[in-house]
Parts: sequence; C-alpha cells; structure tokens
Amino acid sequence: MATSNPYSWLTKSLDTIKKAHWYRQVKTIDSLPGSTININGKTLINFASNDYLGLAGDPRLQQAAISAIKKYGTGSTGSRLLTGDRPLHRELENAIASLKQTEDAIVFSSGYLANMGTIPALVGGKDLVLGDEYNHSSLKNGAKLSNATIIDYKHNNMTDLEQKLQENRSKYRRCLITTDTVFSMDGDICPLSELIELSQNYDCMVLVDEAHGTGVMGKNGAGVVEYANCTGKPLIQMGTLSKALGSLGGYIAGDKILIDYLRNRASTWIYTTGLSIPDTASALEAIKIIKNEPERRAKLWQNVAYLKEILKNFKLLPSESAIICLPLKSAEEALKVAEICQNEGILAPAIRPPTVPTSRIRFSVMATHDYEQIKMLEKIVNKIQ
Ligand SMILES: *Cc1c(COP(=O)(O)O)cnc(C)c1O
Repeated sequence: MATSNPYSWLTKSLDTIKKAHWYRQVKTIDSLPGSTININGKTLINFASNDYLGLAGDPRLQQAAISAIKKYGTGSTGSRLLTGDRPLHRELENAIASLKQTEDAIVFSSGYLANMGTIPALVGGKDLVLGDEYNHSSLKNGAKLSNATIIDYKHNNMTDLEQKLQENRSKYRRCLITTDTVFSMDGDICPLSELIELSQNYDCMVLVDEAHGTGVMGKNGAGVVEYANCTGKPLIQMGTLSKALGSLGGYIAGDKILIDYLRNRASTWIYTTGLSIPDTASALEAIKIIKNEPERRAKLWQNVAYLKEILKNFKLLPSESAIICLPLKSAEEALKVAEICQNEGILAPAIRPPTVPTSRIRFSVMATHDYEQIKMLEKIVNKIQ
C-alpha cells in the first residue's frame, strides 16, 4: 500500500507564504534589552522594541526578580486558587489598581490570556461583541471563543459603530465593545470619550486594551484612559506587563465586583499556573518606577517629536503614540527598506499582511534612545527618498 504523508501540505503552504513575501523567522538577540541590541554579532540601534521606558534591562527590575526568587523560588507551582498565590501577586494587583485608579485588578500569565479569558467570561451565545477592525489578535480570538455574535466596525469610525449599534443592539442580551487604545501596528489611538458615550447610550460594556498605552500615555502613565480624561468611567481596562513594564503577564483593572467575578469565571486565570515569581516581582518594581520617574515619559515624548522631525519629508501614518509608521507600497518594498535600515545599523521591522492590510516600516521609540541614535535615521531617509 502506498504510504501517503498527511503532513506534505505543510511544505506547500509554506511555499505559498514565501512567494507572497509573508514568510517570517525569529531573530535571536544576544544581549540585554535596550536602545541597542546584538543580533548575529552585530550591534543595532533598536527601533523594534515594546520596552518604551527601557525597563526590561533595568538593574532594579533584575534585583527585584532575584530577591523574590530567593524568597519564593521560581515557579508559582499551581493555579492561584490552589497553591499558586503569593503575597507578591496581591501587591502587584493593588499597584495596578492604584495606577489605574480602579477598585481592583487581576493579573494573568500574559496579556493574550487576559483577553482570551475575560471576553468569554463576559459574553456568550446570546450576546454581541462589537470590535474595531484593527483590534489585536487576542481581542478577536477572545471574542471567537465566547460564542457571541461578532461584528467589526470600521477602524476608529464612531459613525459606523453607532450605525451597527442601532441596527443590532436590540437583538442581543449583553453587548461588549472592544478596542485597542493605542493601535499596535499603526500608532493612532481610539476616540475614547465618544466611544464611552455611545456605549452608555446603547447599554454596552467596554473593554479597552491598553497594551501600548500603559506606562506611556497620560500624565501618570495610566494609559489612554488617563490621557483622554476618562479615569473613573465604567470601563474594563486590560493591559500587559510585557511592554512598558518590561516583564511578562497581563491584567484587567476595574470595579471590585468585576474582578471578583473574573476570579470565578475566567478560565485562562483559573486553569493555568499563577504568574511566575520573577515576572510578578519585576512588574511590581516597574510600576514603582513609572510612578516615581515621570522624567522617563518626558524623555520618550521628546524622542518621539525628534523622530517625527527627522522623518518630516515622508507621509507617515497618523500617530499620537510612541509607534511611528512609514507606509510602503508592498511587502517586498517594506522588506527592502527594513534591509537598508539593518545594513545601516538600525533595527526597524517591516510589518506586512496578514498582520496589517498594508505594508509599512514600524519604528517604536524608547525613552532610553539618545538623539545621536535617532539622528542615524537621517542616513536611511536619504537612501529611500
Ligand atoms: C502585545 C499585545 C497583547 C498581548 O500581550 P502579551 O502580554 O504580550 O500577551 C494584547 N493586546 C495588544 C494590543 C498587544 O499589543
């Protein structure tokens, strides 16, 4: 009998991906995270990091993790509801609630898991999820897992959202509106006040994903909710510990009753091991630094302004954040420009479909970049004009 290979389709599928210039590979970084990093023995200026405040390599976060490990070990050994809970977890949750000015918070093992657990806990088969079309994968997949009806509205388009609410809201029991606050692959932000007003008119819950807002946006680094003067509004605020906080993990901040409910219903919190000890301790230290060192945020915004100045002859995508995108015609061209950058000692990734509808080079700015490092972008500007 001829043996067929049930895995042969994988090769074909990968070939298709390669032909479309959509193929991806990991780049191994062999150094501390920071404004410069080493890849394949070469030092590159890093415009590809989510570590906006430069905390992932900070000695204080390292020390916090080491001290916590010495006291509690490395793993948390079980679900938070069984043997996985440590005093550090609650300290971190209180610190997040204090930063966000909410009654309480709950930490998950990643931001992705926070969305994948929270959305299905809040809505089900009788309910509606209305999400921005550019939302992060974790919001989209969380909605799918919930069995709710999913309708996407046009990116940041509140007229379209209202129309979809008008047409559909009454057919469903509960409705949840979901949006990134800072759109991770574009750098623009959601019109939060308007969105909250609509949610109140149509009796909807709102989940905002502050992955790229926390630590960065707002006077105290509490995120776009603070930046847009929406502190205290009835929101479900999600975020991650793995971007500006330089650690790993995710959270939901909100009313006490919401958090208590999630501890009882969010399966990605109940049926997974509690956040690891070093991740918990370093995130807690990061929140202290975010509160005590506002000068880091000030430097970040100076750097963002300087980078925009250097790229002023290009038509950039609209951005109010530390993410600046240079749109390009094709995936091929984006890859070419990323290669030019890399040859000039600059790491800035090509972002391509299917992650985004149109290709671009994405620069993310750090507080720990100095002007000389940003000025290096002038060299590439001259080469691609
Ligand atoms: C990174 C990111 C997440 C996932 O967070 P992790 O902690 O990395 O799992 C969720 N939402 C958005 C918008 C993100 O950018």
